[in-house]
Amino acid sequence: MDINLWNILFEEKQTMHKGLIVQKYGGSSVANVERIQKVAQRVVGYSKKGYQLVIVVSALGDTTDELIELADKINPNPSQREMDMLLSTGEQISVALLAMAIHKLGARAISFTGSQVGIITDTSHTQARIIKIDGNKIKEELKKGNIVIVAGFQGVTLNQDITTLGRGGSDLTAVALAKELKADACEIYTDVEGIYTTDPRIEPRARKIKEITYDEMLEMASLGAQVMQARSIEVAKKFDVPLHVRSSFSDKSGTMIIKEVKKMEDVVVNGVTLNKNEAKITLCGVLDKPGVAVKLFKNLADAGVSVDMIVQNVSHTRSTDISFTIVKPESAKAARITKMVAGKIGAGEVLLDEDIAQVSIVGVGMKSHRGVAAKMFGILADNKINIEMISTSDISISCIIKKKNAEIAVRKLHKEFGLNK
Ligand code: ASP
Ligand code: MG
Repeated sequence: MDINLWNILFEEKQTMHKGLIVQKYGGSSVANVERIQKVAQRVVGYSKKGYQLVIVVSALGDTTDELIELADKINPNPSQREMDMLLSTGEQISVALLAMAIHKLGARAISFTGSQVGIITDTSHTQARIIKIDGNKIKEELKKGNIVIVAGFQGVTLNQDITTLGRGGSDLTAVALAKELKADACEIYTDVEGIYTTDPRIEPRARKIKEITYDEMLEMASLGAQVMQARSIEVAKKFDVPLHVRSSFSDKSGTMIIKEVKKMEDVVVNGVTLNKNEAKITLCGVLDKPGVAVKLFKNLADAGVSVDMIVQNVSHTRSTDISFTIVKPESAKAARITKMVAGKIGAGEVLLDEDIAQVSIVGVGMKSHRGVAAKMFGILADNKINIEMISTSDISISCIIKKKNAEIAVRKLHKEFGLNK
């Protein structure tokens, strides 16, 4: 055939496709053989409808947690580079198995690691940032008629060292690929039907949210909603990649995460979140003079401890307390550093409290409504729940309370802010 004619026909065939979809399947969606087969069926179904597909997969079930435990038994203080070598194997298993499952259904698929498809990151092992993606390899494979399966959560440095993108990082892989490949849709498949007004395991009357803004989702993710990795939402927001979070066990539509939800008036509170993974440290009897806070938080930062909430009041007696929260796994280290600083600056006792919980309410409508904080504190007070710390942002209010009150606080806030089904 005349090469030009062939090209024309070929191009025509290319434009016939209905669009490109990036789909990400989380660990629970590929936890066992049957589920992998289910995913393969769904993927092939889309492909038969004429879509081009790039599939991002997480490690099977709890593989990543298990690998972390395994490493801990060998060396509690492993090299971060070797940790990435280890953790990246989880996703490599998933992509190969999914490709085989798709082949079994008679369709064409090819799997790749992050490194093979040119996901280049910086060198911060276990928390690497994507620098660039070379989408060419994927595009070539799509042109050949393949479903392209990419291992989530991983990349490679310019020095060929394998990196991972932080826990939950497959979401980020999917969002970044959707942006790079200018995908028509980015779907995040998980074991729940979407984003809920609160965790349905705590409040069965929680409702599925149809549409939510990037900002609210980002806030909810960083305050404890565990459906999506916060970093991936930041990237989706930056490049305006609409996300559809939905269940891999049903065909129902889930939650759209988008720039702006077009409603006549914003709802004041869109969700209630709970985070039980933090601990509180209080440094007592700190002299109220310049330079004290910096000594404490600089030492914590240098040790790689990230601090969440901080509360310090001005003092009327020349000395004051500083309280802050950190994630639980870092609490021992943070307490040690705080005691060291306390010794140096002549402060008093250091108290560590691991029995706390952070409850938060989130909603863009808060920006234009008064009295939301007062209402929240009132609901907690009516239920005899003491507030130990408070922090706010434009679109959220968080309280630290005793852990034993966590679930009841969530249910009461959910009800009183009108979120119950
Ligand atoms: N497997 C990794 C993790 O569990 C990445 C992911 O699931 O997105 O964190
Ligand atoms: Mg996982």
